[in-house]
Amino acid sequence: MTVSTDVLIVGAGIVGAACAWELAKSGLRVAVVDQSYPAAGATGASMGHIVVMDDSEAQFALTRYSQTLWDELSPELPATVEVDRCGTIWVAADDEEMQQVRRKQAYYSERGVQTEILDSTALRQAEPGLKAPLAGGLRVPGDSVVYPPAAASLFLEKAVALGAALHIGKTVTSLGQGRARLADGAELRASKLINAAGQHAARLTAGLPVKPRKGHLVITDRYAGMVRHQLVELGYLKSAHSLTSDSVAFNIQPRKTGQLLIGSSRQYDVEHDHVEPAILSRMLERAFEYFPGLSSLSSIRVWTGFRPATPDKLPLIGAWSEDPTLYVATGHEGLGVTTSLATAKLICAQLLDRTATIPVDPYLPSRHMAEVHA
Ligand SMILES: Cc1cc2nc3c(=O)[nH]c(=O)nc-3n(C[C@H](O)[C@H](O)[C@H](O)COP(=O)(O)OP(=O)(O)OC[C@H]3O[C@@H](n4cnc5c(N)ncnc54)[C@H](O)[C@@H]3O)c2cc1C
Repeated sequence: MTVSTDVLIVGAGIVGAACAWELAKSGLRVAVVDQSYPAAGATGASMGHIVVMDDSEAQFALTRYSQTLWDELSPELPATVEVDRCGTIWVAADDEEMQQVRRKQAYYSERGVQTEILDSTALRQAEPGLKAPLAGGLRVPGDSVVYPPAAASLFLEKAVALGAALHIGKTVTSLGQGRARLADGAELRASKLINAAGQHAARLTAGLPVKPRKGHLVITDRYAGMVRHQLVELGYLKSAHSLTSDSVAFNIQPRKTGQLLIGSSRQYDVEHDHVEPAILSRMLERAFEYFPGLSSLSSIRVWTGFRPATPDKLPLIGAWSEDPTLYVATGHEGLGVTTSLATAKLICAQLLDRTATIPVDPYLPSRHMAEVHA
């Protein structure tokens, strides 16, 4: 069987789904193929924090732009997407981390992002469950939380309503030159292909610098009101930057259901998706240290997922120079939910030869990619 279309997207995670919707809105005939089901990969395992970040100008530009797109979209999102404008508090343990708070505030203020510095007392008032004393924190009220699987499914539904075709439960075994070969022997053809296969993207496109980075999460029973913001320790940045070692950081999120989502861990070079008691214990000890009341709560599920990571901590969005039909949209590591909507806009602009709202160059797969260390 051979089916032909304008654009074929491999991957029905949040990135592939957002691209499908954006391209369908632009009038293109789109097909999406996934080996499992929508959001079966990192998207279904993620926290859904929509967060503006400042590791680099390029990271800031993409996260900020995408957050704006989420904000514009949120009035029309159904309750199932669980949009919560709870804001983030970056928690500073000591004076050294308070210097980071001040630096971060200056950076955000210069770029129009609203923030508020909390001293030790204000932090305690904002989040009474945090341990005391802590030095303070930075509140970023514009950050929010969504439920990623529901968002991805919705984007796909919108794409299908505009005529997109979904091929679910179909594994792509090779991709290139306008063709996707499926494991069942069928072939799908398209003028343009998009590899949005997340942690598996490099299996389909040799040389793509994406590798899986494992994470654990725990979700508790319902304890409404116990945590009011997404709370992240400033040491999280060290954890996110590490290129080699296993790392954990305090990161806790209130869900609209009243449940608490507790993270986070980062590991390279682990292939199996089992829950690992050693790293899980380290992660929970860190969480209990910052928020002692967590230790007496019931958890109802623990799971793992794999972030698609690149050496320079920026995603790969654009044409793959070795194949004129092939584009990639992957490598979003721990920010793919946040940056999915901006990714879709950038891919669409490149496919249709239009000027994008932000420069595309920092994310092009052809860029020089230096490893970013902590
Ligand atoms: C623990 C954890 C917490 C996170 N928290 C956040 C957060 O708070 N905020 C945030 O912005 N991001 C977060 N992330 C990151 C985010 O989840 C990812 O960056 C994002 O989901 C990547 O989306 P994707 O569509 O590229 O990949 P995926 O969601 O992994 O989708 C890829 C899809 O491709 C399919 N596929 C793969 N290979 C093939 C093939 N050969 N044939 C057919 N289909 C194929 C898979 O089945 C899958 O459905 C977190 C990630 C983890 C693991």
